[in-house]
Parts: sequence; structure tokens; C-alpha cells
Amino acid sequence: MSELQVDIIVVGGGLVGASLASRLSAGQHRVALIEGHSSLETVGDWDQRIYAISRASRRFLQDCGAWQRLDPARLAPIRQMRIFGDQRAELRFDAHGAGLNELAIITESRHLQHAIWQGLDRDRLTLIQPARPQQLHMTQDRVSLSLDQGQTLHGKLLVGADGAQSWVRQQWQRLSGSQQQAEAYGQSGVVANFSCSQPHQGTAWQWFQPDGSILAWLPLPGQRMSMVWSCSPERAQSLLALDPASLAEQVAAAGQHQLGDLQLITPAAAFPLRALVLPKLTSPRLALIGDAAHLVHPLAGQGVNLGFQDARDLAQVLLQHPSVDPGLPSLLQRYERMRRFDILAMHGVTKSLHRLFNQPGQLPRWLRNTGLTLTDRLPLLKQELIRHALG
Ligand SMILES: Cc1cc2nc3c(=O)[nH]c(=O)nc-3n(C[C@H](O)[C@H](O)[C@H](O)COP(=O)(O)OP(=O)(O)OC[C@H]3O[C@@H](n4cnc5c(N)ncnc54)[C@H](O)[C@@H]3O)c2cc1C
Repeated sequence: MSELQVDIIVVGGGLVGASLASRLSAGQHRVALIEGHSSLETVGDWDQRIYAISRASRRFLQDCGAWQRLDPARLAPIRQMRIFGDQRAELRFDAHGAGLNELAIITESRHLQHAIWQGLDRDRLTLIQPARPQQLHMTQDRVSLSLDQGQTLHGKLLVGADGAQSWVRQQWQRLSGSQQQAEAYGQSGVVANFSCSQPHQGTAWQWFQPDGSILAWLPLPGQRMSMVWSCSPERAQSLLALDPASLAEQVAAAGQHQLGDLQLITPAAAFPLRALVLPKLTSPRLALIGDAAHLVHPLAGQGVNLGFQDARDLAQVLLQHPSVDPGLPSLLQRYERMRRFDILAMHGVTKSLHRLFNQPGQLPRWLRNTGLTLTDRLPLLKQELIRHALG
């Protein structure tokens, strides 16, 4: 059974964990990245999972060397956003009006994953894949992790970047006696891509529907778009059961045929939507980032952006102190302070919007639609919202 001594162990090589490992490998720490899947590097057809990458996340991905590797033909800028309430209210954001080229850039999950993984410097980083941790042992001075393939790693800091079902988070909660669990929204996110008979002109749409579901269309390169429909699990199942033509017709009708006729180009898939905000992101020798640390509703399209900001800030704290023990509480608390407000704010906004648009009755309906209309008429508030969303 082999043993390996490093400084930082990152569990989870998804977008967030791999970007952190990539950034850290520019410094002096010895880093090990453990990923459960055997390969994350394939880029094939259009991915149903797409992300609106904010300007702040783009800067971080440039620092990781990943953004430069993306094929520009697979990127789509969002130049305009149109958000509709469940009456006729509309809120519009426009990049040019705010003096910007775009509000965000759409990229496919697999494409971005591939670019980040290509940049991992395997001479400066120990990549262990496929492997999963089996046992965690923590002392005051170090963390030891035994893996299912027989190896044991010892380090000064363990980073959990292993997604929504985080094993690291569960172990930490077990050791600390914390009970905090993810809370179901009672909705699933149905994702699928379509080609459209009319051009989208870089527009992202979002409709808060009268039944409490939220339909989002995001522009893909060419005459294509990607949908996230957050709806009840029953509705999600009935959408998945439709044949491609019927699904395309239902989606086109729900979006008021804004892009003409639609044709399905990737199979639809559904994901349960959950919310999680933890009282703490760190404890001595341990830090959580990405979905392991928080879960937000996709209605703001900010889940992965929050995760990239976690990776950026944790990397910054650690890189600035190359000769300090990376598991020291004083360093980790600095990361925690940098992130807490953003995470709580995004959690609060997405939960409140979801709740507001799920309340039946005339008064809540009037309030939410008036809110959208008023916000649309306040250019300074809109500028501030754009500035915050861009990071
Ligand atoms: C329906 C839906 C739509 C969404 N839409 C958007 C959107 O439009 N915009 C947006 O920003 N976000 C969106 N999100 C959220 C976004 O997908 C996540 O925030 C993002 O994927 C989190 O990245 P991560 O690297 O933290 O976790 P993950 O992407 O889950 O990566 C975790 C990695 O850890 C590995 N792993 C897991 N367990 C172990 C283990 N025990 N050992 C070793 N490795 C392990 C996994 O194989 C994986 O590679 C959406 C989410 C859903 C469900």
C-alpha cells in the first residue's frame, strides 16, 4: 500500500476543484487532485449542461489558462436579457446600455471541463484518477485520506470540491456533529438544447410561469438555444416522456414562440433542485468549495460562478502565503470571510424569488409583477444589479 505526502489534497476534479488545483499548481504547494471518474475530458456533441460565465469567473479562468483554450466557435455572448413575470411585466437588461460588450458568455460544461483539464500541469500536480476516498483521519497537524485503490495521502489541508453530494462534507459533518442537510426545492431542472427557426441575437429569456415553474432559454452559437425549465418533478417526468417533436412544441409555446419553431438537438435530462447554505465553509485543515459548499437555484444561473469565486479566493489566500501551513485556521477563516457575503446574498435572492413566484393569490402576483416593472424603470438599480451579477 503506497503513501504520499503532499500539502493540499483536493477531492473532486469537476469545474471548481480542477480550476483550484490548476491555479494552485502555479505556486509552491504540493497538490494532489482526486477524481472519481476515469475520464472527464471528452468533448462531443452539444452539451445540455451550459453555463453563463460572468466576467469575474472569466478573469479567473484566464488566470488558470483555461479560457484561452476554449474554441470561440462554441461560445455565445449574452447581449440582452428579458425576464417576464406571470402577468405581462417585463424586465430587460441590455449590455450596450450598460457600456458592455456582453452580460455573460455561454459555454458548455464539457467544453470548459476539457479546457481546464488540459491545463493541469501533471509535473507540478499529482493527479489520482479514478479514485475515491474511503476514510478520513484528522489530527491537529495533518489530514490522512485512504483511497479505494489502496493509496493513502497525507496533507496539511483537505479541500472538498466533490459536488452536491460531497463525501468530504458528510465526513466533516459526521466528525463535528453538524446535521445541516440540503433542502429540496420541490422542483427539477429539465435541460435540453434546440435549434430555432429564428435568430436569438444574443438574447437570454426567462419566464416566471403562472404554475410556479421557471423557463429559461440561453443563446448557443448559431441558431440554437439551451433550455433550463425548473418545474415540479411530475411536470419534469411528463416533459421527459414526450417525443422530441412534442417536447419542442411545448417548449416553443411556453416561450411564446419567441424563436419560432424549435427542434430538439440533444436529449432532455432532469436534475433535482436543492438549496444548501452551511453555517461554516471551513474548519481547521478543511475547506469546502463549489457545490460541496453551497447549492442555489439555477434561476439566477450563478451556481458555477459562485464556485469559481470560491476557488479564486481560496487560491489567492494560499498562494499569497506559500510558506505558511495551508491548513491553519487563520488562513482558512480569511477565505471564509471573503466568500460568506456573496454566498448568503445569492442564496437569499434565489430563495426569495423562488418563494415570491410560487405564492398563489392576486396580491403576491401583483407585487412580483409590479416589482419587475418598477425595476425595469429604474436605470440606476438595473446598473447596480448588472454590476453585482458581473462580479
Ligand atoms: C439543472 C441544473 C442547471 C444548472 N444550471 C446552471 C447554470 O445555468 N449556471 C450555473 O452557473 N450553474 C448552474 N447549475 C449549477 C452547476 O451545475 C454547479 O454549480 C456546478 O456544476 C458545480 O461545480 P462543482 O465542480 O462544484 O461540482 P460538480 O460539477 O458536481 O463536480 C464534482 C466533481 O467531483 C467528483 N466527485 C464527486 N464525488 C467524489 C468522490 N467521493 N471522490 C472523488 N471525486 C468525486 C465528480 O466526479 C465531479 O467531477 C445548474 C445545476 C443544475 C442541477
